[in-house]
Amino acid sequence: MTGLSDSFQRPINYLRISVTDRCNLRCIYCMPPGGVQLMSHDDILSYEEIYTIARAAAELGIDKLRLTGGEPLVRSGLPELVEMLSRIETINDISLTTNGTLLKRYAAELKAAGLQRVNVSLDTLKADRFELITRSGGSLGQVLEGIEAAREAGLEPVKLNVVVMSGINDDELLDFADKTIAEEWHVRFIELMPLAGEAAPAGGFVSAADMKRRLELLGELEPCLPSIGNGPAKYFRLAQAKGTIGFITPVSEHFCFNCNRLRLTADGKLRPCLLSDYEVDLKTPLRSGISQAGLKESIEEAVANKPRQHQMAEGYVPRERPFFQVGG
Ligand code: SAM
Ligand code: SF4
Repeated sequence: MTGLSDSFQRPINYLRISVTDRCNLRCIYCMPPGGVQLMSHDDILSYEEIYTIARAAAELGIDKLRLTGGEPLVRSGLPELVEMLSRIETINDISLTTNGTLLKRYAAELKAAGLQRVNVSLDTLKADRFELITRSGGSLGQVLEGIEAAREAGLEPVKLNVVVMSGINDDELLDFADKTIAEEWHVRFIELMPLAGEAAPAGGFVSAADMKRRLELLGELEPCLPSIGNGPAKYFRLAQAKGTIGFITPVSEHFCFNCNRLRLTADGKLRPCLLSDYEVDLKTPLRSGISQAGLKESIEEAVANKPRQHQMAEGYVPRERPFFQVGG
């Protein structure tokens, strides 16, 4: 295997796969208030097609996969896909990003199929606020049970993703951080990104620097050394804490220079950057009988055109697809 790298010499070894654009929640920072246009079922890649693309990507040097959505667990038979992907010899890490509402039902089955870890999105510890943020009938209790089930199944470490919005949930920063002291909670605070097609994002922006200042009321945040994870989060720990606190700063401090990822949309488009509308269609050639070599060439084309960095600071956000279509 030669390994895959882009035109800025960044090694590319990570593919995030959105398995569906459907979701059972409607988070205010992710879904526009006016509802969404869903993809037609025929447009969505079958598990066999996802497997074929993942295998071609693995032959080029991808060794890490993450399943996302929409909500990946609303697609039926997800453990079956995990099992297929885990048969690709050179893939050594398969993880899942989920809203956690269906995790209790599937955690053990996913683990048995070969899933290694989960990230769960959880933006509040207050039941009534959960309904407000997710605009849904889903419940906080279901998510907390899902997290517990994931731990019991050994899908660890369970990381919690919190999108911080001023006036919505920023008053809970200390409550989340407090949870990391006594329990092994790994909380990652994410800066709010503007929602595609929306004039203003739901809730106000809070920078990671501001979050950190507020959290230091609980004590000094010590950097975790050596640094943990190989993603964009920077991790810290409060003195004596069992868990960790991470910050993901797509807005205030981009991490493009370290970006190692590609994204596959549920309708089979390969996007080398979350925040650019450039994408390469893999579904049409796949359904027209493209060879494995041709598929690999298309993947290489997307990698070669991976932008150096996003342009959010200059006010550019992708217009074509909201995050629930690209997987965040
Ligand atoms: N439904 C799953 C979930 O919520 O974890 C997976 C898909 S969701 C699009 C993936 C991640 O994107 C979530 O952690 C979510 O918090 C994040 N996300 C969505 N919209 C965002 C925004 N406007 N700013 C920052 N993060 C966002
Ligand atoms: Fe659904 Fe995840 Fe978007 Fe929330 S963040 S609406 S759970 S896809």
